[in-house]
Amino acid sequence: MTTKLNILLNLLLSRAKLKIYALAMQKEQGITPKRATIHELDNNEQIDVDINQKELDGIEKEIKETINKIIKRDFPKTPDNEKCTECDWNLICTK
Ligand code: SF4
Repeated sequence: MTTKLNILLNLLLSRAKLKIYALAMQKEQGITPKRATIHELDNNEQIDVDINQKELDGIEKEIKETINKIIKRDFPKTPDNEKCTECDWNLICTK
């Protein structure tokens, strides 16, 4: 179960990364990529990632909201016994 969850989380993270890279190309280079693909080397599978303008606008909005939350120090703790045990900050975290 954990492995399937990790695979799903990695896929979601990879999709977000490709959208961020596409957005960066658009903003910094004036180039809008037409296609983004994750190539899974383990099974030679290719997964297309939707990078249409609506998706890029969405990821830009998410980035701005996240930056604003960080600036406002709005990042509540989410204690979890398993995570906290492994966490580098557990000796100083007030949980
Ligand atoms: S110890 Fe604190 S910072 Fe680390 S996972 Fe737990 S709540 Fe989060």
